Formats: sequence, C-alpha cells, structure tokens
Amino acid sequence: MSEIKEYCDTLAESILDQMWDFSLKIHAKPELAFHEHYAKKEQVALLEEEGFEIDQDITELDTAFVAKCGSGSPKIGIISEYDALPNLGHGCGHNLICASAVGTAIVLKKVLEKYHLDGTVYLFGTPAEEDGGGKIIMLKNHYFDDIDSVVFMHPTSDLTRLAGACLSSKQITIKYEGKSAHAGSHPDDGVNALSASNLFCVGTGLLRQHFKSDARFSCIITNGGQETGLIPCESEIKCSLACFNFSYLEELERRIVACAKGCGDALGCKTHVEVKDGYQGRVPNTILSEVCRKELEAIGEPLLDGMPIDYGGEDLGNVSRHIPICNPYVTIFPDYKISNHTEQFRELACSDAGKRCILVTMKSLSRTVVQLLSDPSIIDEAKQELKTRIDDELKAVTSK
Ligand SMILES: [Zn+2]
Ligand SMILES: [Zn+2]
Repeated sequence: MSEIKEYCDTLAESILDQMWDFSLKIHAKPELAFHEHYAKKEQVALLEEEGFEIDQDITELDTAFVAKCGSGSPKIGIISEYDALPNLGHGCGHNLICASAVGTAIVLKKVLEKYHLDGTVYLFGTPAEEDGGGKIIMLKNHYFDDIDSVVFMHPTSDLTRLAGACLSSKQITIKYEGKSAHAGSHPDDGVNALSASNLFCVGTGLLRQHFKSDARFSCIITNGGQETGLIPCESEIKCSLACFNFSYLEELERRIVACAKGCGDALGCKTHVEVKDGYQGRVPNTILSEVCRKELEAIGEPLLDGMPIDYGGEDLGNVSRHIPICNPYVTIFPDYKISNHTEQFRELACSDAGKRCILVTMKSLSRTVVQLLSDPSIIDEAKQELKTRIDDELKAVTSK
C-alpha cells in the first residue's frame, strides 16, 4: 500500500508544473456561473489526452461534464468547480479546485492501470457553484446516483482543515399589496403596503429572540414606494434565512412566513410569499475525513484539529446528504484567517501558495481514494455514519 501511495506522490510531482500552468490559464480567464465554456473545454482537452471516457452532454448544463476511468466498484467521485465571481474573477480560488481535481484524476488513472485496482473514478465537472448550484441540477438528473463517496478540495486560509458542517439556507421574497391614495389629502382611502413591510421587520426582529443561536436571518426592503406624496400600494422585502439543521430551517421558514402573513393581515394588505431553497448544509463525514487526515499528515501538511464548522454554504452540501463526502480545505495563506471572495484571496490563488495547494491536494486526495478502493469497508462505515447523521438531524427537531 505504501508503495502505491508513494507512486501517487511521484505522479503528482511529475504533473505539477502542467497543472499549475493550467490553473493560471483558468485564473486569467474568469467565467461566471453557467458560462464556463473555456474552463470546460480546457479540462476536457486535458482529460481526453489522458484517455478518459467523457460525457460532455449533461442534461440542463452546457458547461458540465463527467469523465471516468477504471471499472467496477467502488465508484468514487472527484469534484471540480471552475466558476468565478462578478467583478472579482477567481476570488474564491476555483482555478485551484479544477486544476487539482483534474490532476488527481490523472494520477488515479495511472495508478489504477499500473496496480490493476478495482473501482471507477469519476471526475464531475460541476458549474455554477457561486450562483445556481450545478451540483443540485446534476443530483436531480441522477448523475450522482451510483457514486459511493465523493472527494472535494476547496482552497482556504489559516491552516488546512477537514470541513465540518456549514449552513443550510433559503431565500424568501415577500410582496405586500395595498391601495394607493394621496398621502396628504386622502390617506384614509389608502392601504399602506410599506407599513406591512415595516411591521414585518419589527415582527421578525422580535421573533429572532426565539431562534436557536446558529440561525441567521437578514432582510432588506427592495420596494418601498415611489414618492412621498403617495401611499405605497406595493412593497417588497427580500430575506435570507440560514442555520445548520436543515429540518430546523424548515421550521424557521414556517414561522417567518406566518409572521409575514400576520403583518399583511394587520395592515389590511394582501401578502404574497415566494420561498426558494438555497444550498443545503454540509453533512461532514468523520470516517472519510479521518482517512484524508492521515494522508495529509503523511505528506507533512500542518492541520487544524477537529472538523471546524463554518457559516458559509456550498452546493456540495446537497450532495453530502446523499453520498458521504471528504472535504479538505487546503490553505493558500496559513498565517491567519482571511476571507475568500476578496481581491487578496484572488491574488493568492495565482501565487506560489496556490501551486503548493495543488500539489498537497493531488497527493492527499489520490492517496485517500487509493485507501478507499483498497478497503471498501470504509465506505460502508461512511455510508452508515451519513444515515445516522441525517436521522439524528430529523430527530433533533421532531423531538422538540
Ligand atoms: Zn465562493
Ligand atoms: Zn468557492
């Protein structure tokens, strides 16, 4: 086993320069969600050259693809992301994600062939992580159905870590419909829709006292009338709601919607509510994460203890509720925590620290996958842990 893992390291080092150049090309040409045509083309070209079987015709997603190598079980997925941010380019470092994902897949193909290991390795090219959730569309269209485990690296700051839970979220839009009237001469004829929005802000402010401490709620009034001389006949509020427990999020949604309707009724307005699901919170998997932790330690990567939670969200969260995931965050700035989605993070993503991140990722993820292929009982344990976590999450709310 150690010979195979050392071979992973050797292969990773041998393709590092190529993967680094590739990541710089992606960094220099940022593309927004659902428009990542260049990034898809470049990844597919590299994978074709290496002899992967590639499906480029993905339902509903022009810029997605699935590449595979090997055969039989277990079936392990590596996730690639490659979309950028408006006005900021690769401020989330997705150029490093796709380069290290492609690199890891190339390493594993050579390892499977040389050592005749059973198992299929898939590389999922998943667009629109920043806005839209390509993985959710691929889940819905059954692309992940047979996959036994998923590995995915995201760049980060502070020390490298194995990701814990993150937030589930929903977006709620509330529109109030009242009746316009002259504010000075005939206010008695009007029904003020902005007043309902104001009452909603007060009502949810009071309601928040009863939320669990991890819940996040924010709202802005996006339409509050047109001119001061008229009673506003329409108003609109956009809200964002998030917490760790997905079932609890649904309970919070019910309370917010009830508050919205009550405020509309109180002011005599009609209330229209639209709720959109955001990303579901990540369900971490300690079984797979411990496998990856050992490999990161074996290659000398300094690590944070445990599996720290974070207050972000990602569409891998939806995948993590169906398939056990291994989600290392590999550092590109170890000194202290800085935010991604910033210019500083974007510049780090094309610095030497980014090159190091690609190498650490290719080594640790390929070693992790080799371990899973050699001992599929780990995957069975990981699946059991996932089931228990989802059951416990449901219980935590229904037992209240
Ligand atoms: Zn991001
Ligand atoms: Zn990101």
